[in-house]
Parts: sequence; C-alpha cells; structure tokens
Amino acid sequence: MVDRGVDVLLLSVGADLPYFCGYEAMPLERLTMLVVPRDGDATLVVPHLEAPRVAERPDVFEMVTWRDGEDPIALVADRLAGVGTAAVGDQMWAGFAVDLLAACPTLTLTRASDVTAPIRMVKDAAEIAVLRDAAAAVDRILADVQAGGMPLVGRTEADVAAQIARRIIDEGHQRVNFTIVASGPNAASPHHEAGERIIRAGESVLFDIGGTMAGPDGVGYCSDITRCVHIGPPADGFAELYEVLYASHAAGVAAATVGTPCADVDAAARRVIDDAGYGEFFVHRTGHGIGVEAHEHPNMVAGNDLPLVAGHAFSVEPGIYVPGVWGARLEDIVVATDAGPEPLNRIDHGLAVVDA
Ligand code: ZN
Ligand code: ZN
Ligand code: ZN
Repeated sequence: MVDRGVDVLLLSVGADLPYFCGYEAMPLERLTMLVVPRDGDATLVVPHLEAPRVAERPDVFEMVTWRDGEDPIALVADRLAGVGTAAVGDQMWAGFAVDLLAACPTLTLTRASDVTAPIRMVKDAAEIAVLRDAAAAVDRILADVQAGGMPLVGRTEADVAAQIARRIIDEGHQRVNFTIVASGPNAASPHHEAGERIIRAGESVLFDIGGTMAGPDGVGYCSDITRCVHIGPPADGFAELYEVLYASHAAGVAAATVGTPCADVDAAARRVIDDAGYGEFFVHRTGHGIGVEAHEHPNMVAGNDLPLVAGHAFSVEPGIYVPGVWGARLEDIVVATDAGPEPLNRIDHGLAVVDA
C-alpha cells in the first residue's frame, strides 16, 4: 500500500476478502466490507444477519455489524477520515463504489488488485499442494473420458456436462466452476455453453472443466484443464490441426521458466500456430493465472512484461478455432519453479480416439 500510494484497502465481494481474512462475502446487495487502513487496525463491516457466518479473527479484524434500515456506507465513511486514495476490490459492486464516492467526494479510487495481485500471484507450498490435488482430481475425470470410460455418443452435451459436474464434486472439489462440453463445430466457440446438441460418432468433443477445492483455512483453490477426444478416427485436417496445437502447447510450457516475461510464454505458443498458418484461428491469450480464482493474475498475454517467478501458477492453453467446422484447445496448469516449469496436469496430451 505504501509503494502504491494507497491509504486504505476496501475489500468486499470477490476473492481478495477470503484470501486475506478467511471470510467470503455473500454476493448479495447488502454491504460487506473489510476496511484496511495503511496504518491502524482492520474492520470488517458486515450485515447483522450474516454475522453468524463470520469466523471471528480478533487478531486480524474487528467486526462491526449493521441492521437493515441503517446506512452501512456511513460506517465505512466514518473510517475514512483523512483518506485520499482508496483501493477498492476489482469485483466490488459498482453501486458500493458510487455510494462511497457520494459520501466521500474527495476520495480517489484505484483497483485493489494493484496491491493484492502481486501478493496473490505467488503461491506458497501449501497453496501449490492444493492446486496439485485439484489438478489430479480433474485429471482422473478426463483420463476416464480419454480411455472411453464415459459414454458420449447419442447423449446431449448438457447431459455429459451434468455427469462431469457430479464427478468434480465426487473427486473432492467443494464447487463446480465450469463444465464446457463442446462437440463437433461447437468446439469452435472457446467458451461454448454445453447444450442440447447430441454428440455423434466421427466428431471431436472438447472438455474444459474445473472446480474449487478447499485449501488451508477453508479458502478454496481452483482446477482447470482442457482435453479433446475424437470419436472414431479423426479426419486428416483435424489430426493435422491437433498436431500443431500439441506442439504449440509444448512450446508454451517449455518457455515458462523463471525470469521469462509472461508475454514470451504467449509468443512461444503462438509462434508454432502462426508458422503452421493457423494464426488467425488462435483468438485468445495463451493463459491466465489461477489460485483462489479460476482466472487471476498473471496473464500469459502480449504486452505483459512481468517476469515469471517461482510460485507463479497459470494455465498454458493454446486453441485453434475454425468457425463452423471444428476447434480444439489443450490446457494444463503449470507452476514456475527454480527447477523449471512444473505441469500439474499429467494426463495424456494427445488427441485420444475413443470407440463410437
Ligand atoms: Zn476459458
Ligand atoms: Zn483456463
Ligand atoms: Zn479451461
């Protein structure tokens, strides 16, 4: 906060709050806010009716509750005397920020992530252990799919996605975050929503799945993996596309060494796809950080000059999407270590061919 010229940190809805104090605000309209002054003690302002959810931590914060009919913004504003710059949670409701500015017109707002991301990005051994467990859990699910252990043909994407969601919980996650099941041409939409399309023989199916697993102090950490399977032998064009993707992914992972700028990880993966002539079909960054959120800093993206340090955890997930025809993506979570990049997802990276 001193480095960034921030006088107070205001954390509400979003992942910063549980990361720093163990309590996750309900994403509802009532105001919950942790007020962390640069000098002085932290206060958690919380709705009276939600106070029983809070595990009190007198060593970390004092708790102040408010009842319906009272003005919680005033409770926060009372604690901002002399404050010039407040860093507010990136996912705080805009309504809270607007009301705060009305109560404190001279306040300057900045993003809390300026302060919190550098801390959250670097995972310690306990955090990496949970990320590794979460990765192993989703590995088991997609290894089964790769081995043909989950029936696909004749079922809707949504039906398969629901089965995977149950498996994510059965394998030890506390929460399902996403279950992308994209068959045939639907895989050309990177964030396809599993729907009523019936999966058929002779086509590919892309699985991008993830959840949140409980970690130290009850704070959860995320999994995220993508694999593609083909039902029966793939057409030459798709097999060729997948070989390019495979090489791109390997190049991205290999580039993820300590000291390498994040942008160079993106460039390493992208170069392989560009050189093969598919560059226009790789329509997103190569990866994102992962931790208490499925997507957090640092991003493996052009322009991000941040050098990797040991403990950065992030995805490497190049994709090739040919609209209306087909698409594929290959994704692992990788941790940068002094001994080199450590992929947490270990299952086969090839295009698994399953029986019709
Ligand atoms: Zn995504
Ligand atoms: Zn991802
Ligand atoms: Zn993913």
